[in-house]
Amino acid sequence: MLPLNECCYRLNHLDTPWDIETYIENGGYQIWKQVLAGELSPQEIIDEIKTSNIRGRGGAGFPTGLKWSFMNRAAPGPKYILCNSDEGEPGTFKDRDILRYNPHQLVEGMMIAGYTIGATAGYNYIRGEFWEPYKRFHNAIEQAREAGLLGENILGSGYDFELHAHLGAGAYICGEETALIESLEGKKGQPRFKPPFPASYGAWGKPTTVNNTETLASIPVILAKGGEWFRDLGVENAGGTKCYAVSGHVEKPGNFEVRMGTPFKDLLEAAGGIWKGRELKAVIPGGASTAVLPGEKALAMNMDYDSIAKSGSFLGAGSVIIMDDHTDMVKACERLSWFYHEESCGQCTPCREGTGWMYRVIHRIRQGKGRPEDIELLRNVGGKIMGKVICGLGDAAATPVSSFLEHFEHEFRHYIDHGCSIFDRQ
Ligand code: SF4
Repeated sequence: MLPLNECCYRLNHLDTPWDIETYIENGGYQIWKQVLAGELSPQEIIDEIKTSNIRGRGGAGFPTGLKWSFMNRAAPGPKYILCNSDEGEPGTFKDRDILRYNPHQLVEGMMIAGYTIGATAGYNYIRGEFWEPYKRFHNAIEQAREAGLLGENILGSGYDFELHAHLGAGAYICGEETALIESLEGKKGQPRFKPPFPASYGAWGKPTTVNNTETLASIPVILAKGGEWFRDLGVENAGGTKCYAVSGHVEKPGNFEVRMGTPFKDLLEAAGGIWKGRELKAVIPGGASTAVLPGEKALAMNMDYDSIAKSGSFLGAGSVIIMDDHTDMVKACERLSWFYHEESCGQCTPCREGTGWMYRVIHRIRQGKGRPEDIELLRNVGGKIMGKVICGLGDAAATPVSSFLEHFEHEFRHYIDHGCSIFDRQ
């Protein structure tokens, strides 16, 4: 684990880290006060964020400073900053802990981001099942307002900014930024065609920036310690630390904040290693939408965008799912394909029909009723989804299936040939 002076998010060693007193005692809201006092201009903030080399922590990995620079501050009418706390991908649970244990850092990050892009209001779209994190964040907003840090003419600066917490209704697809915007507007949560992008046509048709929870919570500490400090914690193509949510067959599952580029084997060790003294079989390094990797490949990679890409997968949201050598990969793939089938919003025919088709084929293989041609059929259906739909969910649904087949085809074949898993071969 990182020493505290290298951490960006960790306050949960304290008794009540969610209270404004605790946050202020630990240096909170200092940067916000400097911003309001005119000591940091929007351009200076953007330059510092660009220097920090932070990339969006929600999955896409887009450079945050560059994203902010797309907003036209001078455009007439309202503009919005939205936080994406709709953390719903299997394996992800880092943003939940930021909301629970460090909500004021996110409030401050959202206010600074809003000021920088010229917004006068911000909304945090929080996953519908996150009752406790929602209450913590909502309470943090109220505390900030009572302290005079939010609202009209904040601390006499002449700047007005309002912040709202919005609870979603439980659809994974609302984590896609344009579906999130539709849902926030009160419509059915379905992704929009892009372009136009939210920076020009976002919430209620106005310029909007959408950032992930962890990204926005990083902003106060980047500005407090400097972009170079943050950049130097990471690797050439991605600065800073990263919260990795490690789950599955490890002794100590949980969130681990480590430097970007930390060897995977060190992260695994921090999570207590493989449970029950077993061997590592496979890893999904970035959440359910990223490709599964065999254990030996994962052990050779580092936890940063480029190293994971070289290994054949993606860092995604940093949600690391560990599978031991007792794992039935066909069952694991069946479970993932069911999730994407359930969560398809149904707008695009290849996704709506293809996700269900893939699930049904994998299900029949797992039931011991697979046909020799099913492997090719799965590849064919996946290929007809990828790149032919409106949003990333289609690709996210096809990627696990194609990668499970790439690395563990023999387990699917065993089911087809023998009607049972490799563990039943005796
Ligand atoms: Fe909806 Fe799937 Fe199309 Fe995305 S790809 S818009 S989830 S149907």
